[in-house]
Amino acid sequence: QSDLVMVYHRLPYEEYIEDGIQKRRRPTSPNGIIPTLMSFFADGKKGSWVAWSIHDPKLGEFESHTEVDVDKYPNLVAARVGLSKRDVDIFYKKFSKEAFWPTLHTFWERATFREDHWEVFKDVNRRFAERTSEEAAEGATVWIHDYNLWMVPAYLRELRPDLNIAFFHHTYFPSADVFNVLPWRREIVGSLLQCDYIGFHIPRQAENFVDVARGVTPIDVKEKVGCAPRFVTYGCAVGLDEMTTEIEVNNRRIRLGAHPVGLDLNRVSDALEDPVIQNRMTELREELSGTKLVLSVERLDYTKGIPAKLQAFEKLLEDHPELHGKVTLVTVCVPAAKEMTVYKKLQIEIEQAVGRINGRYADVGWTPVQFFFRAVPFEQLVAYYAMADVMWITPLRDGLNLVAKEYVATQGKIEGSGVLVLSEFAGAAAEVRGAMLTNPHDPAEMAETCYLALAMNRDEARSRMREAYEIVSHYDIEHWGNEFLAAVKGKANHKTRLV
Ligand code: UDP
Repeated sequence: QSDLVMVYHRLPYEEYIEDGIQKRRRPTSPNGIIPTLMSFFADGKKGSWVAWSIHDPKLGEFESHTEVDVDKYPNLVAARVGLSKRDVDIFYKKFSKEAFWPTLHTFWERATFREDHWEVFKDVNRRFAERTSEEAAEGATVWIHDYNLWMVPAYLRELRPDLNIAFFHHTYFPSADVFNVLPWRREIVGSLLQCDYIGFHIPRQAENFVDVARGVTPIDVKEKVGCAPRFVTYGCAVGLDEMTTEIEVNNRRIRLGAHPVGLDLNRVSDALEDPVIQNRMTELREELSGTKLVLSVERLDYTKGIPAKLQAFEKLLEDHPELHGKVTLVTVCVPAAKEMTVYKKLQIEIEQAVGRINGRYADVGWTPVQFFFRAVPFEQLVAYYAMADVMWITPLRDGLNLVAKEYVATQGKIEGSGVLVLSEFAGAAAEVRGAMLTNPHDPAEMAETCYLALAMNRDEARSRMREAYEIVSHYDIEHWGNEFLAAVKGKANHKTRLV
């Protein structure tokens, strides 16, 4: 049994089946979270990672425990919750993405709510709680991750009243008038209120949670503080100046905190020092042959605002003929899993927009939009980050956005003068000062901001980038982990009490 149990919906490695045998490899799908969490078990730290794994009886006996990586994490064990393929499809690929994801990101009109899927969701969450209960030592800290596991705290608290249950919400958390659309909001909030500590990326999300909780049960605000100086307080859609850090519900105290996920900056330095990546940068410089590079990197998802960005780019070319042949938009778009049919329409819409813009403006030797519909390995992305004059990140809604920070980390390390243009609806906008903020719902404003970013003089760009880099490099992933765990253990120090 372990003193720290990580409860995450996916294993820290990827499993696949070849010749009837289950094999494993490093995760191929892009995910900034897994390497981040693994780092807590480096240096031989003991721990347990609870995650699902497909239980196919044809493959023989199901192994409930496997090692993760004996060399790097010798004392970390993966405790697998065996699920059928059908359970995974419903719990993860369908229900979470079709009911919760849209609602959390304020696209509730896209959500479909099915009672039978909710039953599967609860059953899977209950099995996660049972496995976690077996893994945790007396009084252990259990760190549960994200909305896929919303119901785990309720089941786990029943089994193990002794545990210190912490929950980190990795996605956006919407305001009460959106969240309360969920048919099961009472059960979900009731479960989260069984935690000892709940963390969000930014104060706005924590405060939204308090409003949601208030709509479900009487709550007593015990502590409200001025937001830490690191957070942007005004002039940004997700900025906020005060947040609740402690509430009491039915004689239980629940503490709340804002902890934006940080980066492992060594990954960026390693990539920049890699001769293969350096060659790639030289190639890119030649390929671009003097044109400015505007870069956009995201998963295929309606929350990321890709069609609006393409519309804005088209407007930029319409309004500024002087930019023709001088600026290229490179869009890296990571496809969603095949089973996620909700993304098909969006893909077609994007492909049509790219075709239209290129058809309208391309010239011999210049393709205005270069669209890569595939995942690019992180190291290769760093080459693009280093070469991009403007990083254009315009989600309609985003919990944080790691890509924004990765760009800042890269530009900061090379002392570049790239400009980050960031949606003010991304959590990162409340943290990364120095970015130019943009409204992703307004293509004309987006086009104008992109233009200003392209035209910005080097001194201003450098000074903005330095400001952003200071934040991204100081509040790195190690800081995030230490700060979160210290807060969970009650060692956080809130200076300005307002209540
Ligand atoms: N990413 C990647 N290859 C790609 C596109 C993205 O490795 O082709 C990574 C990127 O480096 C980042 C993560 O995927 O770490 C995306 O995280 P973000 O917070 O920006 O968005 P999310 O996909 O979690 O909503």
